[in-house]
Amino acid sequence: LFAAVEMAPRDPILGLNEQFNADPNPDKVNLGVGVYYDDNGKLPLLKCVTQAEKQLVEAAKPRGYLPIDGIAAYDKAVQGLVFGAESQAVQSGRVATVQALGGTGGLKIGADFLKKLTPQAKVLISDPSWENHRALFENAGFQVGTYPYYDAGRRGIDFDAMLAALRAAEPGTIVVLHACCHNPTGYDLTPAQWEQVIEAIGSRGLVPFLDMAYQGFGEGIAEDGAVIGQFLKAGLPMFVSTSFSKSFSLYGERVGALSVVCSSKEEADRVLSQLKRVIRTNYSNPPTHGAQVVAAVLTTPALRQTWEDELATMRVRIKQMRELLVQKLRAAGVTQDMSFITQQKGIFSYSGLTKEQMQRLRSEFGVYGVDSGRICVAALNTRNIDYVARAIAKVL
Ligand code: PMP
Repeated sequence: LFAAVEMAPRDPILGLNEQFNADPNPDKVNLGVGVYYDDNGKLPLLKCVTQAEKQLVEAAKPRGYLPIDGIAAYDKAVQGLVFGAESQAVQSGRVATVQALGGTGGLKIGADFLKKLTPQAKVLISDPSWENHRALFENAGFQVGTYPYYDAGRRGIDFDAMLAALRAAEPGTIVVLHACCHNPTGYDLTPAQWEQVIEAIGSRGLVPFLDMAYQGFGEGIAEDGAVIGQFLKAGLPMFVSTSFSKSFSLYGERVGALSVVCSSKEEADRVLSQLKRVIRTNYSNPPTHGAQVVAAVLTTPALRQTWEDELATMRVRIKQMRELLVQKLRAAGVTQDMSFITQQKGIFSYSGLTKEQMQRLRSEFGVYGVDSGRICVAALNTRNIDYVARAIAKVL
């Protein structure tokens, strides 16, 4: 039966981790991952999470099945965070939200639903994008193309080309957009640029699918979510996937959501019934723990404050590492202007290093980043940053 099964290619990023683990270099640094580490190089366990868990254990409940669309209080809390509890869209019941297995799960439920709804539609993702976007939408049966995004020469976004591609896309095309903290480049659109993108999407009849995996890691929870308000104002239908993997440091609990903004409550009810069908036939219903924790934190004022403070600590530390890296590169003798690193947002930086330079970083210094030049600045800390800066200076 399995004689014809081919070996699938290794996941490029997880493969890098395996290589890192096998490297005997005592100074090695892993900047390949998409994870936030604290200044001690440790994955944080947030206080808000342990406090919420303590409360949950004290009021221990039996573990029945959850509803197909997850914990109602969780879905409501997600809507409040993403769209604003007071927003007309939420108040009028025209947003359908389901709990999902992380942000990836939210994307996949949306992709499967869209494939049934508009089987002929094409999908456009940014060039470059999170490496799983293409595979995920292709696996759902879509043909996936790209719209221009990163401009290496200009160290930023080729916005004119992006807009032109959207204006030329076939009506009905699904456009996957990074709501904030673009992975892998770190370059985000300005509110004025978003306005133009929204105008293009609306006038062309495209379907926006916003991937929000890093809310709070750029400028703040409200600032990073502001783009959602811009889309709401335009009155367009839209999809939003949410991930709490990073913002709650709950990677392994798989906590996320999918929200679909419809034009009426009656429409949202029908959409919800179809999202539930996708979930039921894939994994029946979601797990309890992570969503319970996130719901408790988001809806308990004291815990919510603790979370916002802890998220701010992570955000500020990332910014400090960006600034420190630029300083240390200068101190290590790099003469070219590296200040673009501080303009990027979120946990990643497109460093501008070539594939050869990234490979030298690995083989000569044990500094692991992705061949595209992407490094995770959230894995830098006050102990490894000197070493990393000197290594980068040597390969430059
Ligand atoms: N979208 C983007 C842009 C991401 O970077 C990630 C995580 N690396 C995800 C979605 C998936 O998040 P999760 O781990 O919650 O599935």
